[in-house]
Amino acid sequence: MTTPPTLTADFLARRHGLFIDGEFVGAVDGRTFETIDPGTGKVLGKVAEASERDVDRAVAAARRAAEGPWAAMSPSERGRIVHRVGDLIAEHAEELAELESLDSGKPASAALGVEIPLAADMFWYMAGAARRITGTTVTPSVPYMPGQEFHAYTTREPLGVAGQIIPWNVPILMAAWKLAPALATGNTVVLKPAEQTPLTALRIGELLNEAGVPPGVVNIVPGFGERAGAHLAAHDGVDKIAFTGSTEVGRSIVRAAAGNLKRVSLELGGKSPNIVLDDADADAAIAGAALAIFYNQGEVCSAGSRLYVHESQFDRVVEGLAEHASGIRVGYGLDPDTDMGPLVSAEHFDRVRRYLDLSKDSGGRTLTGGSALDRDGYYVQPSVIARPDRDHPIVREEIFGPVVTALPFSDIDDLAAQANDTVYGLAAGVWTRDLSKAHRLAKRLKAGTVHVNTYHVFGSELPFGGYKQSGWGREKGDAVLEQYLETKSVVVAL
Ligand code: NAP
Ligand code: MG
Repeated sequence: MTTPPTLTADFLARRHGLFIDGEFVGAVDGRTFETIDPGTGKVLGKVAEASERDVDRAVAAARRAAEGPWAAMSPSERGRIVHRVGDLIAEHAEELAELESLDSGKPASAALGVEIPLAADMFWYMAGAARRITGTTVTPSVPYMPGQEFHAYTTREPLGVAGQIIPWNVPILMAAWKLAPALATGNTVVLKPAEQTPLTALRIGELLNEAGVPPGVVNIVPGFGERAGAHLAAHDGVDKIAFTGSTEVGRSIVRAAAGNLKRVSLELGGKSPNIVLDDADADAAIAGAALAIFYNQGEVCSAGSRLYVHESQFDRVVEGLAEHASGIRVGYGLDPDTDMGPLVSAEHFDRVRRYLDLSKDSGGRTLTGGSALDRDGYYVQPSVIARPDRDHPIVREEIFGPVVTALPFSDIDDLAAQANDTVYGLAAGVWTRDLSKAHRLAKRLKAGTVHVNTYHVFGSELPFGGYKQSGWGREKGDAVLEQYLETKSVVVAL
């Protein structure tokens, strides 16, 4: 069943331009691309497609704004505008949830219940941060100037123009995590949403205008990664590039950024271990393991995709998880009964299906799921694969779908080694009643976030990011502010 949209009809009927200098404009070459509803495979709308020249226009607008009133505005004033963006997102939550669901497939309930409140909160949090950007005073010791006294201090300044490239899995939240800190720190932005999900970013462009964000401070350029994205990453007029997406594209961002040595922050892939110890509350662990892998169709970079369960609890927990998975209602995102939506695109659907096919030769047993659903749209079954070979691609590679591998362990040292035996290091989970064990294991895990007896906790205050090939730098928390500021030392001879 597909439920017709109700709140977004007006927006969907609009021409979807690029958002440059506070206005919606067509692409210079007049090109457009289609965005698809993955729940039906049908076209949802046409969107202006940014070329290199459009990115140039957007960067020029962002530069003007960076050197104009935005940087000169008081932190309080800037903070209030950032806060208002959060208010408007919260006020339009239902409409945005519907639009997000239509464009990405995810259940509207998840967008409304989780992601949009988090997105609004990120702006609210960063509104305060705008006023907490401070330097320090320093007393330098200068051996070759004996007797000379100094007064020295540091100041923090915006970098200038930030290019931001985001993925399709949680589009509004990714936009919020990127935009809010850039704005709070006085930077200006050129944001490229993913080609699969450009719509909510454009709606947010309208809300930015309504909130009083001056023209050019945020520019939004939907289009393709190889063209608009690559041009933005390489652009000499861009001071910083913040990217979220695949590790492979992350590497190409680093290469592109080398030209003018722009600052780079990366939030990349993951293959996160979720670990159930012998003394864990099995029911809590089952529910937590399900949330960790099946939330958002498993299209989450920090998904708990490798489940490790102590041998003594293995059958109970893994069979419980399979039972939970088989009860998940897979359906159209706007249907209120849907727990899990379709995957985002035909291309991604093919990719996840390839992994499901591969899993047949993994040496493991598919306890539930294992295939696509026979209907229009890009639906796959939530899948649990028990005891595959440790080195099989389904255990080692990021699938980015609702597929979890479950492996037993009996020795904690071997478990820690297995958990860390990955090029990634984004997140981890530990389930135990023993606090001492939890803290000891948290210390050993090479991951940017370790959850204990919980999973997918994304408070705006918490830094988020990866060890190893899961990325550079941190998003959220005060840690993200570092990614958008220069430090200047001012030294005064007294
Ligand atoms: P992706 O290619 O890394 O896309 C992420 C963003 O980068 C999109 O906006 C994309 O643009 C853009 N992009 C692509 N190539 C680019 C380039 N050469 N230069 C600059 N920007 C570029 O991710 P995907 O293809 O959507 O998904 C592939 C896999 O990445 C997934 O299966 C998953 O494993 C992983 N992934 C991880 C995350 C995460 O949160 N860490 C999110 C999404 C995907 P277009 O899409 O518009 O072409
Ligand atoms: Mg779409």
